[in-house]
Amino acid sequence: MRRSRLLQGLLALLLLAGASCQSVRSPASPVVVKRSQMLMGTLVFVTAVAPDETIAAEAAARAFAELKRLETLWSTWIASSDVSRVNQAAGRKAVKVSAETIDLIKWSLRIGRLTDGAFNIAIGPAVSAWSVTEQERIPSEDELSRVRPLVDLNGIHVEERAQAIFLAKPGMQLDVGGIGKGLAADYAVEAMKRAGATAGVVALSGDIKTFGRLPGGAGFLFGIQHPRDEQALLGTIALRDEAISTAGDYERFFERDGVRYHHILDPRSLTPARACQSVTVVAKDGVMADGLDTAIFVMGPKRGMELVERLPDVEAVIVDAEGQVLLSSGLIGRLSPDHRP
Ligand code: AMP
Ligand code: MG
Repeated sequence: MRRSRLLQGLLALLLLAGASCQSVRSPASPVVVKRSQMLMGTLVFVTAVAPDETIAAEAAARAFAELKRLETLWSTWIASSDVSRVNQAAGRKAVKVSAETIDLIKWSLRIGRLTDGAFNIAIGPAVSAWSVTEQERIPSEDELSRVRPLVDLNGIHVEERAQAIFLAKPGMQLDVGGIGKGLAADYAVEAMKRAGATAGVVALSGDIKTFGRLPGGAGFLFGIQHPRDEQALLGTIALRDEAISTAGDYERFFERDGVRYHHILDPRSLTPARACQSVTVVAKDGVMADGLDTAIFVMGPKRGMELVERLPDVEAVIVDAEGQVLLSSGLIGRLSPDHRP
């Protein structure tokens, strides 16, 4: 159910992005290659634009290889990953990790500070208590009170010189699900550029990073999913050298007695955040777009939009709890109605 919704969303994106065939060539123009693979628990789409097909295909392959490498560092489903090893050693010792993992944790803490703790990667024990996808359980207030001291950004120590991470309290658990895909998309784009791609897209379900333009000069076109009507889009937007990321209460949820319980938790109450239906952030970097979509979802439309207006190169589409659509000032005039037949 959830996957098919995601896939539908992605198909909409692909249709908008242009041809559905594997590669497109016209004389004397760059080649566009499209590839997809299952990675990081989702279907990943890569579009590579390059002077010839060999380079474009190689750039796409490098993007997938980079995502695979980062998955082995950041996935909590892989026991030997950096993040899993840090979690296993919580309260006991610092764990040496890769430079990319230090980058991920520093970005996470930076966005945590920027959003007054609305973004909190120490949320792991609360996410486990809810287990929205696996068990669909509602934890008791007692249970949430027990994990509350563990959801503490001050307990995450980055030891730069030793390139190590230490979690101060036993039981602390990092959860990078709200930011990892965005940063991974940034790294994958760098790998594509190194391979000679002149433009492209890396799309990990709702976390998308673009660079350059399509042959002919157009930007990459994306649809923003309507949070309550899976057949509808809020609008479409063309991106050039920008990332876009959406957090929604429709992505992973269950319903009990008419109440929707979803996967984005308010770090203060440790219960699902209630002020938005969806938040889409457009930013220069995937890591900012992904980290901020989750954070703004928690902060709500008022504080969230104030933050967006303060930050340079950050725009947002917020759908509030009543379904009202709010646009940041820089998006006014940039969002087009859905023109699909
Ligand atoms: P996204 O789809 O980017 O909003 O990410 C949602 C995921 O982020 C969830 O599935 C959790 O793994 C994690 N998460 C939930 N609440 C928070 C929060 N307040 N701060 C940081 N990460 C969170
Ligand atoms: Mg996010």
